[in-house]
Amino acid sequence: HGLSKSFTLNGAALPVLRDLNLYIRPGESLAVVGPSGCGKTTLLRVLAGLEAPDGGQVRIDGRPVQGVGAERAIIFQEPRLLPWLTVLGNVAFGLEVRGIPKSEAEAQARQNIRLVGLAEFENAFPAQLSGGMAQRVGIARALAVQPEILLLDEPLGALDAMTRITMQDELARIWREQQVTMILVTHDLEEAIFLADRVLVMPREKGTPPRVIEIDLPRPRDRSEARFV
Ligand code: ATP
Repeated sequence: HGLSKSFTLNGAALPVLRDLNLYIRPGESLAVVGPSGCGKTTLLRVLAGLEAPDGGQVRIDGRPVQGVGAERAIIFQEPRLLPWLTVLGNVAFGLEVRGIPKSEAEAQARQNIRLVGLAEFENAFPAQLSGGMAQRVGIARALAVQPEILLLDEPLGALDAMTRITMQDELARIWREQQVTMILVTHDLEEAIFLADRVLVMPREKGTPPRVIEIDLPRPRDRSEARFV
């Protein structure tokens, strides 16, 4: 509600978000697109509570929230796994730091590892994984804490085209099965249309309000239709 955020560049204020009002529906999948530098990552970081807005509020179910919270999990372009922990250790880590006993944390982590199709790799270390596998571990780790809201910042941006398609299918399935609210920043319009109910288009020109486009295609989506919208 009324979100604004500026940075300082060469001593001058650089407005990135200006009085942004956006209602995100519970359980929806919203894609955020727009030219480089328009503020997509900033918006996601503000929603995640990693960045405080200069003005306005982030509200969840009508309640203002400040800082990070267990109901939101963010996934970055690079999964940033802890190299000294196995896949299981990485996914369980977020649960253990929340005080969940190790055995319980690992049992929950195993379920999420299975969900992303990596059951056979739970004892592998990050260095032994491909880029797509590592990103899947990142997704499992985010889901393990059972967030209501999943914020994804170009999660598939660093992957090759084929892995990207597989992972898009996986994200679509996870979104369906887990009933999370998904907010996905992407540079790929086809990906946005394939995965999202609505697309927030952020403008290049500062001061122009963003637009929200409703994607009126049935689910599960047909990839070829997404291509021609
Ligand atoms: P891209 O698609 O290239 O990732 P983006 O739309 O995600 O870009 P942001 O990363 O949100 O854009 O950046 C928006 C603007 O804010 C840019 O002009 C950037 O230089 C500026 N910016 C972002 N973070 C900071 C910061 N910590 N300090 C100063 N300026 C920043």
